[in-house]
Amino acid sequence: MKKKIAVYPGSFDPVTFGHLDIIERASKIFDQVVVSVFVHSAKKHMFSVPERVAMLKTALKGKKNVSVDCFEGLLVDYLKKKKTNVVVRGLRAISDLEYEFQIAAMNRTLYSHTETVFFMPSQRYTYLSSSVVRDIAHFKGDVSKLVPPHVVKAIAARNSVK
Ligand code: ADP
Repeated sequence: MKKKIAVYPGSFDPVTFGHLDIIERASKIFDQVVVSVFVHSAKKHMFSVPERVAMLKTALKGKKNVSVDCFEGLLVDYLKKKKTNVVVRGLRAISDLEYEFQIAAMNRTLYSHTETVFFMPSQRYTYLSSSVVRDIAHFKGDVSKLVPPHVVKAIAARNSVK
């Protein structure tokens, strides 16, 4: 039988427990999940693409059917390269819906086979986003309940050189 591959694209700046919750759920349903950092050079980021990829790899070590990658350009071109039509995204609240629907519809317009599958995280991660983590980190607040320990360390190291 053909293996079902799903691509989970995002900024992951940095990876949070919310992202990991979505990856865990997706990895139970799809044969392979490719978590892919979107390279968007015009946007200002806290961590570089290689740093974000490395943090994801550490967080996902030992997960046999999950791999980490990065991509530049249109998601639909990346899907074709990965020989799949499935996109995984997370939905925290209704507020995510409008934006996610817009992207999903646009991807389907560009590549009609695209199927976007939405996962709902555990309730405790509903209000968690990378931008909230970055804001708390900026004021040197405690992010240990929001991101894995190695990301807490990376944030502390980043703050100490500022
Ligand atoms: P963010 O900066 O909002 O965390 P990303 O671009 O890294 O954004 O997010 C990639 C995908 O992961 C999006 O579909 C986003 O809705 C989803 N996501 C981000 N955080 C969470 C969370 N806490 N729970 C569920 N899905 C999430």
